[in-house]
Parts: sequence; C-alpha cells; structure tokens
Amino acid sequence: MSNEFHGAASAPKIGFVSLGCPKALTDSELILTQLSAEGYQTVKTFAGADLVIVNTCGFIDDAVKESLDTIGEALAENGKVIVTGCLGAKPGADGGNLVRQMHPSVLAVTGPHATQEVMDAVHSNLPKPHDPFIDLVPNAFGVAGIKLTPRHYAYLKISEGCNHRCTFCIIPSLRGDLVSRPIGDVLTEAQALFEGGVKELLVVSQDTSAYGVDVAYRTGFWNGKPIKTQLFELVQALGELAKEHNAWVRLHYVYPYPSVDDILPLMASGLVLPYLDVPFQHSHPDVLKRMKRPASGERNLERIDRWRLACPELVIRSTFIAGFPGETEDEFAHLLDFMQAAQIDRAGCFAYSPVNGAAANDLPGMLPAELREERRARFMAVAEAVSAEKLRQRVGATMQVLVDHAPGLGKKGGRGRTFADAPEIDGMVALLPPEKISKTLKVGEFTKARVVGTRGHDLVAQPF
Ligand code: SF4
Repeated sequence: MSNEFHGAASAPKIGFVSLGCPKALTDSELILTQLSAEGYQTVKTFAGADLVIVNTCGFIDDAVKESLDTIGEALAENGKVIVTGCLGAKPGADGGNLVRQMHPSVLAVTGPHATQEVMDAVHSNLPKPHDPFIDLVPNAFGVAGIKLTPRHYAYLKISEGCNHRCTFCIIPSLRGDLVSRPIGDVLTEAQALFEGGVKELLVVSQDTSAYGVDVAYRTGFWNGKPIKTQLFELVQALGELAKEHNAWVRLHYVYPYPSVDDILPLMASGLVLPYLDVPFQHSHPDVLKRMKRPASGERNLERIDRWRLACPELVIRSTFIAGFPGETEDEFAHLLDFMQAAQIDRAGCFAYSPVNGAAANDLPGMLPAELREERRARFMAVAEAVSAEKLRQRVGATMQVLVDHAPGLGKKGGRGRTFADAPEIDGMVALLPPEKISKTLKVGEFTKARVVGTRGHDLVAQPF
C-alpha cells in the first residue's frame, strides 16, 4: 500500500511519501502532525519540495525494493532525502545500514516510530518557520492529529512491536517487543477521531489479542474511571464510543486465543462489527510449529465453529502462506481442507518467499519456487470459490453500506463497503444510481442498499 499526503502549498515545503502497512501509516500521521504543528507544509511532489521524507517498509523483498526505488527517485528529483520506517532499521550485507549502503547521500536514516529523530533531522536541514499564525494543527481531529486515510475512516494503533518470533517474520527485530499504548491515550484518540467525523475505526497492531500483556493488564484511567489495559475492556469501551457517534469499530490482527471468545458477544450485540481479521497462515499443527505461530496449539476449526455459534453474522478474513519450507503434500491438503471447512470469508495467500534475516531461511526442505507458486494458486482457487459462494448468499439482502466514493452526490451511483469489507484489503459494494430521485449518496455517510448481484469479489447493490 502506498499513500502520499497532499498538503496545502506555502514554504518551507516537505515532500512526504508513506509506504507500507497501516502501522507505518500511523507513524506517518504522527510525523505529519508534528510537521504541521511546527508550520511546515507538506506537498506531494519531490521536485517542488525543500526536502523529502520517505517512510519505508522492510517486510518482504518486494517492499524493500519499492522503498529503495522510491528513495532513489526522491534523490534524483530532489536531492535532500530523510528516510524513516522499517527499512531504515535494516542491516545491509556488510552489517552496516542497508539504506546508507544503497543510497549514501541520504541526509538521515531512522527506524520505525521515530517521530522525534525525524523532526531533529528536519530541523537541522530545514529550519523551523517562525510564524505564530501557522503554528497550529490545521485539522479537525484534535489530539488525533493528521490522518492519511480518507476522513471517514482511520486506523487506531493500540501497540507497537511483537513478543512472538514467527520464523518467517523480521518485524520483532525491526520493531522490538510488544509495547501497549496506555488505554486512556488510545480511548482519547478514538474519541477525537469520532468527534472529527470518523465513521469507521480500524484497530491495528502486530498482535491485537496481546494488548496489555506487557504491562500485566495494568489498570489505567479514562473519563475518570478505572479501566484495564486489556482487549475486552478496550473493545467494549471503543464500541460504546462508536455507538454514541453512529460509527463502526473493526478489529485487525487478532490471534485465535481463548480470550477472544469473550469479544464475540460484543459483536453479536452490535457494539463492534462482526468481523475478525485473523492471520492463520496455515492449519497443519506441524507447519504452524515450524512457523512458531502464536496460538499454534489451538483447535482452530472448533474455535471458529464456537465463534459462529456465538455470532452467526461473523465474517473472518485471513492470510495464509503456501509452500512453507518442508510443507508436504499432505500438510498442504490439510490447509485446503481447513479453508473449505472453516469457510473463511476473505482469504489472501502468499507463496512462501524468503525474507532476508528471517529464521525460516535456515529450515530444511525449501520447496522449488514453481511448486510454492502452484500451491498458492491451488489455495486461491479454493478460497475464491468459498468467498464467491458467500457473496452469492448475500444477494437479496438489505445491508448497511458506508459510502467511500459518490461523485455528483451519487446520482450516477458510487462505491461503498459493508461490515464485511475492510478498506483496501477486502471487496467493495458497487452502488447503482438510487431509484428515488430525491436520494443522494455522500462520502462518509451510511446508506441502506439491497444487494442485487455480485461482480468478482464485490457486491452490486441498489441504494434506497
Ligand atoms: S505475530 Fe509473528 S508474523 Fe506477526 S509480527 Fe509477530 S512475529 Fe511477525
């Protein structure tokens, strides 16, 4: 995913590019908020800017390449470049810093969540403007700062880092162990976002179910009342806030721990969306063990059945890896059976690809690239059939749709999402022109719509 921030124009100007996952996006938002508070302007072009900041991703090799290419372009077009984000923390082949090795002329390099270091580098290369009239944050979100996402949805990061050590992942070495944000701060930010017009809050972290583990579920305070730093209490409080503002709360990166069972009644009662993003990655216990996945000992099919009993509307999205080192045909067949039995509503799948620095590179049994790719394609054929059937079952239903796009007040139709679709990763709803002449569609508002058909991964619906 890539996002560029489009700011208003006046000097000193900083070009800003944000690459990477929703967690990187929240880092970008913190930096942009600070830049704006100090009176800098942000622009989308490299050429017109006084300097450029690139927030990078270092997760998979393609992302590394995209980040390095972007830094190269920024250097060629502008010449003054500050690099931050996951790639900035990555060592190069000589043990030094990878970014510095590839692009020695960058002004500064920092790792992720390093707003202050980035600001220090900005100050020493482009002095702060002194204008009391622009020394304000010009946006509607108060303490929540600047959002890169469209105004009606926003990511809420509840923690940084991760205590797990999945063998295919280098995030813990880039971002460190889990650090939960104080629950009072998280809820204050959520409230500011809702008050600023956000209609959908997406809770993100590396491991949402582990929220509070690092602080032994310490009791914090919010609105003068004690509240535990713990997922259930957080979700309940977020749900109540969302209800006051007629908004949605969606949970991402939740592992199938027993404690998640308690959240399902909150979904069944409508307090938070009946949607769980659970990155299972595989189903076979031996593969999960080799991956060192969290909750690998859990009986996931039984757990999913229990979740669906507690909340029949539940939509599950997940990601999987096909062709992990040592994966046998039987283990892969287990994964296909799981996909079929678990009826995962939305699934993505990567063919395993070695990530520089990941422990899985040393596991025996690396499969040939063609076999990994073939398994990915076989998995996706099953996943897409499940998903398509689930979409077909919605035809005829009336659903609540959050409008994402509606040119000309939606007179010619528009685009939106239901509770079953997270932005950017799931499908969407193609909205037909409303039948009633007086009916309008507005971005960031909800409309009821009757599903009349499906189109690939998407639904087609008639608003009314
Ligand atoms: S849970 Fe595993 S895959 Fe996710 S960030 Fe932690 S180590 Fe990486």
